[in-house]
Amino acid sequence: MGRDSRGEQRIPAPDVFPDPPVTSRPEALAVVGAGPAGMAAAVTAADHGIPVTVLDAAARPGGQFYRAPAPGLGATRPEALHHGWDVFTALAARFDRHVRSGRISHLARHQVWAVERAGDPSVERDSGRDGGADGERARGCWRLHAVTGTEEDIGTVVDAQNLLIATGSHERQLPLPGWTTPGVVGAAGAQAMLKSGLVLPGRRIVVAGSGPLLQAVAISLARSGAEVPLLVEAAGYEFYARAPTTLAANPAKLAEGARNAAQLLRYGVRLRTHSAVTAVHGRHRVEGVTVSRLDRDWRPVPGTGRRHDCDAVALGHGLEPRTGLATSLGCATRERADGTHGVVVDAQLRTTVPGVWAAGETGGIGGVHLALVEGELAALSVVRLTRAETARHSDGGLPRRAVALRRARTRMRAFAEVMGAAHRPRPGWRQWLSGDTEVCRCEEVTADRILTSVSELGAGDARTVKLLTRAGMGWCQGQTCGFAVRELIGPAASGAGPGRQALACPVLLSVLAGHPPATGAAGDSDAAETAGGAGATGEPGGTSGSGGTSEPGGTSGSG
Ligand SMILES: Cc1cc2nc3c(=O)[nH]c(=O)nc-3n(C[C@H](O)[C@H](O)[C@H](O)COP(=O)(O)OP(=O)(O)OC[C@H]3O[C@@H](n4cnc5c(N)ncnc54)[C@H](O)[C@@H]3O)c2cc1C
Repeated sequence: MGRDSRGEQRIPAPDVFPDPPVTSRPEALAVVGAGPAGMAAAVTAADHGIPVTVLDAAARPGGQFYRAPAPGLGATRPEALHHGWDVFTALAARFDRHVRSGRISHLARHQVWAVERAGDPSVERDSGRDGGADGERARGCWRLHAVTGTEEDIGTVVDAQNLLIATGSHERQLPLPGWTTPGVVGAAGAQAMLKSGLVLPGRRIVVAGSGPLLQAVAISLARSGAEVPLLVEAAGYEFYARAPTTLAANPAKLAEGARNAAQLLRYGVRLRTHSAVTAVHGRHRVEGVTVSRLDRDWRPVPGTGRRHDCDAVALGHGLEPRTGLATSLGCATRERADGTHGVVVDAQLRTTVPGVWAAGETGGIGGVHLALVEGELAALSVVRLTRAETARHSDGGLPRRAVALRRARTRMRAFAEVMGAAHRPRPGWRQWLSGDTEVCRCEEVTADRILTSVSELGAGDARTVKLLTRAGMGWCQGQTCGFAVRELIGPAASGAGPGRQALACPVLLSVLAGHPPATGAAGDSDAAETAGGAGATGEPGGTSGSGGTSEPGGTSGSG
């Protein structure tokens, strides 16, 4: 039995678990996520001769936006629920070509649950022309641990010199009385069900929440045969008019808005702005909703609540970046205008941890086109670094393509910030809650228990609330309730990001036991120092979530 550097005994992992397969040599680039951002990155890197391994939890590439019906359903027109399907088919054809040639290795149904630094974690720094870009090279490599979802399988390990995190987003929910009634689904979730399973959550569906995705959802549901009597939007659209320059720079978004308005009209969907579903009714199944008018802080205006009959509700308050893998490595995050926390990246999509890039919605919600642009741009940055490493010289300025992509990215990110600010939940939403509304559904923790832990037991952050109430301790690890819990705690916690997660998804103990942590894991103090040091190259605007040590076997914060 060995002793570690502190003289503590290390208990060897039981050898009943076989060693997981490790790729024979580190790939130049590993991409986590085969959504628009990950696919664009992979094909761009492969076009430039870089071998890439793409790991994705889904069965087929495409991510959330380009979801296709499962092959067994025999859909004859998979493009019917998409716009821009031709962009996807072109991208998918390039992707497939590289898979066939062996330049892209696509590990489908592989969910990455942890990444650690393997090998020598020291970082070599030259004085790069743009503040370290060319000269800053991570040594050693990243070791990615993935599970494949079958209990027999102990998982896969992939080593790579560079890592791109393109894990996208998940839906943000605000709880309300009755939201656990069968027939209430996530709005983005309803869209995903429809695109991949060709199923509707009901016949008469109210769509409610906030954000432009609701319009796409209402149109898809109506086009597929559902009756959508109401689209209830908590914000208004007048906020957009405060940013005329940004709107003018994004004419495609204006055109999309006009198209959506025409489609809503065509399908008879009534749009109610500055309103919210403040209660869902029905004992065993949704039977109706109460819709109330909101004041400017999203407090329900007394006496305005009206009941509407329906048998399903699609709820969603926008999306939240999926940052778990990045924060577990010490990558800094920052709050975006919509109140979510995205991974901090610079103009080349480098995170604050050298050797790690992030593209698409991992860095902030912005839509499919932005994800495509960021994926390509990140890959060009990796190409440039890899070439500089092999040729031992920098190729000078950015190629013309990268300059154009950068401009497009700046324009689209600016629009995303306006959109985020317009639909950011206002504090009055808390008044929709009754004391017995379940906020954390996994652990059945009510609003009252969370508020009591704050007012009577002195909890001032999500981590303490979690320890006192179990909110965020269940299967989803606070993915669903984290935002609401932080908002309920109040100003002290609402600006905080999701806490660090040691594991990005649930894993079997047998899988954990088969993977004793490597030395120099990215969560250790060396890596934390590295993250802090590199923070200077990140986007301005402050950081959170960097540094610190991953908690073995648990999670910190409620994220
Ligand atoms: C449920 C849902 C439905 C949506 N529907 C629409 C829509 O209809 N219209 C629209 O305009 N926008 C939609 N969006 C927004 C849309 O996701 C983005 O605009 C776009 O897809 C972002 O691309 P991306 O590559 O950044 O992320 P995604 O498309 O989200 O791709 C991320 C990929 O990463 C994978 N992944 C995540 N974590 C891991 C991990 N740990 N290990 C391995 N793989 C992982 C996922 O399986 C996924 O394939 C939806 C979002 C969600 C969450």
